[in-house]
Amino acid sequence: MTWVLTPAAVVLWSTAILALVVVWIVLRHEAFPGSRVFPYLMLAVAEWALFSGLEAASTYVSVKVLMSQLEYVGMAATPILFLIFAARHSGYDRWLCRPTRRAALWLPALATIAVAATNNQHRWLWADYLPGPQGSNAIIYVHGPAYYGIAAEVYAFVLVGCVLVARSAFRHSGARRRQAITILLASAFPLTAGLLYVADVNVVPGLDLIPVSFLMTGLVFLVGIGLFRVFDLVSAARNALIEQTGDAVLVADADGLVVDANPTAVHWLGGDSPLVGRCIAAVFATWPKLRSACLTEQTDRIELTLREDPLLHVDIHVTPLRQPQGRQAGCFVVLRDITERYQNEVTLQHANDQLKRHVREIEALQGELRDQTIRDSLTGLFNRRYLDEILPRELGRAAHEGGVLSVVMIDIDHFKETNDTRGHREGDRLLSLLGQVLHGGTRPGDAACRYGGEEFLLILPGAAPEVARDRMNTLRAEYSARLRVEGFESPPTLSAGVAAFPAHAQSDDGLLRAADAALYQAKAEGRDRVCIAIANPGNADST
Ligand code: GH3
Ligand code: MG
Ligand code: MG
Repeated sequence: MTWVLTPAAVVLWSTAILALVVVWIVLRHEAFPGSRVFPYLMLAVAEWALFSGLEAASTYVSVKVLMSQLEYVGMAATPILFLIFAARHSGYDRWLCRPTRRAALWLPALATIAVAATNNQHRWLWADYLPGPQGSNAIIYVHGPAYYGIAAEVYAFVLVGCVLVARSAFRHSGARRRQAITILLASAFPLTAGLLYVADVNVVPGLDLIPVSFLMTGLVFLVGIGLFRVFDLVSAARNALIEQTGDAVLVADADGLVVDANPTAVHWLGGDSPLVGRCIAAVFATWPKLRSACLTEQTDRIELTLREDPLLHVDIHVTPLRQPQGRQAGCFVVLRDITERYQNEVTLQHANDQLKRHVREIEALQGELRDQTIRDSLTGLFNRRYLDEILPRELGRAAHEGGVLSVVMIDIDHFKETNDTRGHREGDRLLSLLGQVLHGGTRPGDAACRYGGEEFLLILPGAAPEVARDRMNTLRAEYSARLRVEGFESPPTLSAGVAAFPAHAQSDDGLLRAADAALYQAKAEGRDRVCIAIANPGNADST
């Protein structure tokens, strides 16, 4: 086996080495759209150039053919990788999400490799091998029909890739647009080299210019992004910020298509599948509030639970993007994780609600307790303690307003006897029924109290003694009627004494004493009646 170091071999091996250098640089370079597939493209070019160089260096036809067959591996993969790279870089890579489509994309490459590997059996690719120019070790491949099919397929892939990049150049602006234009310009190399090859224009004998041209594409693109990165330092810094922030950031264009989404947005909203190219209304379909916020043309801020388990509660800012002319150009959505704050708020709210409930319970208990302290348990009327509290107050008010106030001291006649004959329990029922009658007979502002034992007291602010007496007579009649209804055949009667401020006494003590004296008089006069105190206030207050 003999090898000759021909100029073509030197150029092709240099191409292979340079392609590997490009791979190394890209792997060290920060990510750019399509940066994951770009090294594979350059690896395919390197393989292609390596075996193309070996073909150019070999002097044996059989070795040359074998090298050509091996070179077809890289050659078949290159246009497909170029298309994938162009799709990823331009953002039109939604159709690549499905594994079946990605696999289908590789079918032409497999077919090409298979045709080249089995050429000796069918000769569809190379029909014959003729000696090259005199003095060179090159041979001329007589092309068969498969060759033109493969050439057309390679061209088609590169052209589709160029169309995608051109569309992206129209859609984007700034660094992204300049990068897209760079790829378009760089794609001119393989397109031109392909045309030259098909037209059999040989610059250097045995030199296949297409892998070299793909390397040129890679180099121009690399230089392009390197330079534009420097020029776009600010936007690069912004990109880095958006990529690295813990917030989810999403940009939609005027048609409602997602044109950019950082990794957090993809994770939160896309379930880790790409968002770029999808309709924002579909992305937000699960969260109608968020979807309508994006459709309004105003800045909006909302809070919502994005996910229940594990809980993800977010604060969302939607900012409409406008063109300089004021036309809507899309919107910018930022979602911030506020789960911790939200959970604290919920816990706090819960604790607050509980506290309010406890306070209400305590207030109710306090009310009940106060009721218990100021009310008599048997009759439900106010007790003596409350009387001591309100009588001076009501007297003070009557004195201040220059009004009158009557008190009525009530006693059940011969109650002891009733108790003895009917029993204590029945006695209690009589007391309770009197409580109900007195309570029903009081008006707002009046107070009915159980003074002690079977004695009761009414405080009637604003009532003159005669009025108080009349009301007491009414109550006596009501009590009697009520007892008859309750089954008492000869119900006990009531005696009462009325004393009034200022006619009979000025102080609370004086007033009670005067009422007691009037009651005593009623008893003395034969019970079952109401007596008014003697109009001598000085007496009542001093004795
Ligand atoms: P008078 O006509 O002079 O008022 O005679 P009275 O028997 O009504 O008067 P007295 O003061 O001698 O008796 C009052 C009775 O009231 C004595 C007591 O047993 C009874 N008494 C006091 N408190 C209660 C109570 O809470 N329940 C019952 N059943 N009886 C009570
Ligand atoms: Mg009594
Ligand atoms: Mg009595």
